[in-house]
Formats: sequence, C-alpha cells, structure tokens
Amino acid sequence: PMKPVQVKLVLLGEAAVGKSSLVQRFVNNEFQENKEPTIGAAFLTQKTYVEDKVIKFEIWDTAGQERFHSLAPMYYRNAQAAVVVYDVTRAPSLDRAKSWIKELQRQANPNIVIALAGNKLDLVNDAEQGLHSEEDGHDEDGHEDGEDMPVTRQVSTEEARIYADEAGLLFFETSAKLDLNVQEMFNEIARKIPIE
Ligand code: GDP
Ligand code: MG
Repeated sequence: PMKPVQVKLVLLGEAAVGKSSLVQRFVNNEFQENKEPTIGAAFLTQKTYVEDKVIKFEIWDTAGQERFHSLAPMYYRNAQAAVVVYDVTRAPSLDRAKSWIKELQRQANPNIVIALAGNKLDLVNDAEQGLHSEEDGHDEDGHEDGEDMPVTRQVSTEEARIYADEAGLLFFETSAKLDLNVQEMFNEIARKIPIE
C-alpha cells in the first residue's frame, strides 16, 4: 500500500461562521448545535482518497477571534491548502474572508490551494431542502438562542462565485449541519493539490 500524502490544511474565517463544525463534519461526521468556540487552534487529521492515492489532511482549525490574528501565520505558513469560511447569512463575514484570502495570497505558500466556503446554507436553503413547509419567518426548532430574527441570505451565490473565480479559488456553499458539500469540498481540494 502507498504511503499517504500528507497535506497541511488551515481553516480561517470570522468567529462563528462554522469552521470547527465543518471540520467535525468532515472528520467525525458529527454536528453540534451550540459548539463552544475554539481557543487558539485545534488539530485534527482525516484521510481521503484521490484515485489510488491516500491523502492525509493535517487540519489546523484556528480560532476566528481577532485577538488570535497574530497567531494565524504559524498555521498557514507551510500550509498546502486553506479553507476560508464565511456565513451566507452575514455579509461582513465575506469581507473578513476576503481579507484572509489577500493575506494568504501575499504571505502563504504561492502554490496553496484555497477554497472559499459559504457555510450555513441550510439556513437559506429551506425551500430546496423541504425542511419547512411555510415561510413564516419562525425558527421552528425553537431552541436556538439569538435566532428570533428571520434568517435571510446576505451573500448571493453569484456574488461569491464571481469573486472566487477572479481570485482563483475553489468555491462551495456548504452546510456542516446538513452535511451539504463538505466531503465534496475536501475531495476537490485533495484533487487540486500538486503531488510531486
Ligand atoms: P467557528 O467559530 O467558525 O469554529 O464556528 P463553530 O463551528 O463553532 O459554529 C458556530 C455556531 O454556528 C455553532 O452554534 C454551530 O452549531 C453553528 N453552525 C456551524 N455550522 C453550521 C451550519 O452549517 N448550519 C447552521 N445552521 N449552523 C451552523
Ligand atoms: Mg472554531
């Protein structure tokens, strides 16, 4: 059997966009409704397959809080891949993602494969998912704090895709909660990693 190809991957993005949740979904196929915030960074590994090759992702899940910003270069310095996450229901989180991407394009490995992930697709995808029969603006789960306001999409797929194409990024809209596009995103990253 072939030795796994190790790929260092870093997750970046504003706090609470769902970085840790995407990793939990990818690594453990789990989702927690009210995850405690990451302190500093967490390290996890997961394997995936590209044709006959085994890719072992070594994942650094960073804290999004600004007070940890100065630590970020430690995590992206030798990274071969990055997932920069925003929340499709929060436009400012896309601005933050763009500034992370600029920083990566200036300071990280020039061959880094970057994916932009618009997470929490489930919150705006109800019609397609058939989760709720009426659009009455109520949170039918009724047990989530801070969700009294109806959730509307603040970043269109089109806007994000155009930006991602211009910046040369992979682009996915994801839901860690409903497991939409999570495995697909990591697989696509694995396929794009230059393997010598
Ligand atoms: P991080 O700070 O970027 O690591 O974000 P977390 O993974 O800790 O998630 C922040 C909050 O958003 C938690 O309450 C999660 O349960 C929630 N969350 C994360 N991903 C999703 C998602 O895809 N859909 C929904 N509805 N909530 C999510
Ligand atoms: Mg986190």
